[in-house]
Amino acid sequence: MKRIGVFTSGGDAPGMNAAIRAVVRTGTAQGLEIVGIRSGYEGMIAGDLIPMGPRDVANTLQRGGTILLTARSKEFLTLEGRAKAAANLKAAGVEGVVCIGGDGSYRGALKLMEEHGIPVVGAPGTIDNDLYGSDYTIGFDTAVNIALDAIDRIRDTAASHSRVFFIEVMGRHAGFIALEVGIAGGAEVIVLPEDPIPAPICADVIRQSNDKGKRSSIVVVAEGGYKGGAQGLADAVKACSGIEPKVTVLGHIQRGGSPTAMDRVLASRLGAACVDALMAGKIGIAIGQVNDEIAHTPFAEAVEKRKDINRSKYELAKVLAL
Ligand code: ADP
Repeated sequence: MKRIGVFTSGGDAPGMNAAIRAVVRTGTAQGLEIVGIRSGYEGMIAGDLIPMGPRDVANTLQRGGTILLTARSKEFLTLEGRAKAAANLKAAGVEGVVCIGGDGSYRGALKLMEEHGIPVVGAPGTIDNDLYGSDYTIGFDTAVNIALDAIDRIRDTAASHSRVFFIEVMGRHAGFIALEVGIAGGAEVIVLPEDPIPAPICADVIRQSNDKGKRSSIVVVAEGGYKGGAQGLADAVKACSGIEPKVTVLGHIQRGGSPTAMDRVLASRLGAACVDALMAGKIGIAIGQVNDEIAHTPFAEAVEKRKDINRSKYELAKVLAL
């Protein structure tokens, strides 16, 4: 193998640059030429390829977003689109590809392999932490810390004014961010897609907190934890109890900014392990980190299996809110 490609795809995540940098530098150290594919599958189809050397990734470790840009591609969902993408890679002499993205990107990578024989390996780049095959995904820790910082600030004002705040964090299908920041931020209630709570129960918990002498309450709601998110739940709680919550939706600020040390180290290890796997002929796999060791999971398994939240952490959160 002489030349490999690397691209980022789907939602951006802080730490993607650290992964790109690791691919470029470990690949170069092993005598490979590295080609950056810009804008994910869109760029693969358009032939937007750039050579990358170690100096091209200087000063990127601490930067959020992705220097290779990312995109969602409708055309790649078609056979013709994928054929164009594969032809561009082959014409450029790209013999293996590193895909940094979420499960949608993995599904695309699997098709590129199956239909056109292009060796691909993947690294989990998504803040949601919902990818099977890795304890943590690149960007999750940063998103959690950004949300936690916001919650700490909101708690100051909630406590000063004796208010109830509903704070919405990202997670349409998975509650990993909500659970982590809920525990770290000392939330009175955590609402997860994995265990939706009816509004009257949420209202009861807030009332009980009040009865126990708590002057303010924080309810952390994952986007997908209630229809209409935090606002939907706040409206329903108000309607059934008369409690008047304030609502803050954190939104995209959770995706930006400088990656934490944990994300930089994770991304660096995973990027390097992607190159190692390609060199060893281990392809069609998602690279992850499990119990601090590099783990390999076939793409097909990584996209089909679901990673569940840690139920004991969830139970702990309830006790700690006493
Ligand atoms: P993520 O990788 O963060 O889950 P998406 O689900 O948007 O993000 O997927 C990124 C891109 O991967 C899509 O825009 C599409 O081009 C490609 N993709 C997703 N699912 C498939 C699929 N089943 N077959 C082929 N390509 C896919």
